Amino acid sequence: MAVVKADAYGHSLSLCAPALTRAGTTWLGVTSVEEGVAARALCPHARILVLGGLFVGQGPACIQNRLTSAVWEPWQIDELEAAAASAGARPHSVPVHLEIDTGMSRQGVAIGDSAPDALPSLLNRFCAQSSLLLDGVMTHLFAADEADSVFAGEQLRQLDVALARVTAAGHRAHWLSVGNSATLLAGGAESISALAARYGMKALVRPGLALYGVVPRFEPEDPAQVAAARARLKPVLAWKTRVTSVRGIPAGTLVGYNGTFVATEPMRLALLAVGYADGLDRRLGNRFSLLVRGQKAPIVGRISMDQTVVDVTEIPGAESGDETVILGSQGESVITAHDHADTAGTIPWEVFTRIASRVWRFAAEPEGTTRTAPS
Ligand SMILES: *Cc1c(COP(=O)(O)O)cnc(C)c1O
Repeated sequence: MAVVKADAYGHSLSLCAPALTRAGTTWLGVTSVEEGVAARALCPHARILVLGGLFVGQGPACIQNRLTSAVWEPWQIDELEAAAASAGARPHSVPVHLEIDTGMSRQGVAIGDSAPDALPSLLNRFCAQSSLLLDGVMTHLFAADEADSVFAGEQLRQLDVALARVTAAGHRAHWLSVGNSATLLAGGAESISALAARYGMKALVRPGLALYGVVPRFEPEDPAQVAAARARLKPVLAWKTRVTSVRGIPAGTLVGYNGTFVATEPMRLALLAVGYADGLDRRLGNRFSLLVRGQKAPIVGRISMDQTVVDVTEIPGAESGDETVILGSQGESVITAHDHADTAGTIPWEVFTRIASRVWRFAAEPEGTTRTAPS
C-alpha cells in the first residue's frame, strides 16, 4: 500500500497517486473519506483504505466511492450497514479492515486484559447476512523505528492472539495490514508475511515517508539495511523560491520584525518570497540557511508570514530572480527534510505536511528547462 494521506505528505496527491498506481501499487492509504473521494477521482481502479475511519454521515460516500474503511467502533459498522442497506448492497459486498489496538492506545479494538473485551461483539457483526466483508485485519506499530524491535515484537504477539480469536470465531480476512516505512526498510515485512501466512492471509505493508525518498531515523542508530537504504533513496521533492530583491546595508542596520538581527558589518541581503504561511517554520529565523547559487545563505532576522531575508554577502553575483532552494539540492549543496526538522525541533513528516497549499506543486521538468509561475 502506498500511503498518500495529507496530500501525499504534502507532495500533491494529484501528482503522486497516479504515479504510484502506474508504478504498480494496488492500494492507496488515505486518512479520511474526503481524501478517499479525492483519491478515487484520480485512480478509478485502486483499492483505497481510509486509515482514520469514517464519520457519521459518510457511509454513502464510502460506498459510492468504493472506499475500504478501517473500523473498530460499533457505530462505524452501523453507519456502513445503513448506507449499504439504502444502496441495496449484496451480502459481503462492502469491504472493511478491522483495526486491532495492539498497544498504541490510539485507534482499534482494545484486546488487553484490563479492557472490556469488545472483540467478540464486533466479530458478530460480520454475520452471514451482513453486507460488510471482513477483508482485512490491521494494526499500527508505534515504535517501528527502534532498532531493538522490542515493542514491535510484542505488538505482533498481541496481533497473533487477536488473529487466533478471529479465526476461532469462524472468520477469515484476506489482508493483514501492518507496518510503515521503518518496518519495511528494516526488513520487518518478513515476519509480517510469516504471521499472515499462518492464518492464510496476505501481508499488506503501508509505507509512506520512504515512498517520497526519505528514510526515518532509527533509535539509537540505523540498522545496516536502513543505512543502505538511506544511501540509495533519493528525495522526491524540492521546494524552491526566487530572490525578489537584493540590497546592501551598513553596519548597525536592524533586520526584520523586532530587529532580532543587527548587522555588525556592511552586508548584502536577499529578500525571498517565502514565509511561515508557506510552511517555512518560524523557528528557523536566525538559525538556518537556504541555498543561493549553490551556497548557504543564512536566514537573518525573523521569518515573516510571507517573506524571509537571507545573507548573501559571501555569495558574489546574487541578484533578483536567482533560484533559491529551501529544501533540496543546488550544485553540490543539499538541504534535507531532516535538516529542517532538526532545527525546528520536529520530524520530516511535519516539515512536508506543513508546506502550504498556496505553494505551487508541479512535476519536475527535464534538466535545463524553466517554468514560470501560474497566472
Ligand atoms: C501514516 C501511516 C503510515 C505510514 O507511515 P510512514 O512512517 O510514513 O511510512 C502507515 N500506517 C498508518 C496507520 C499511518 O497512519
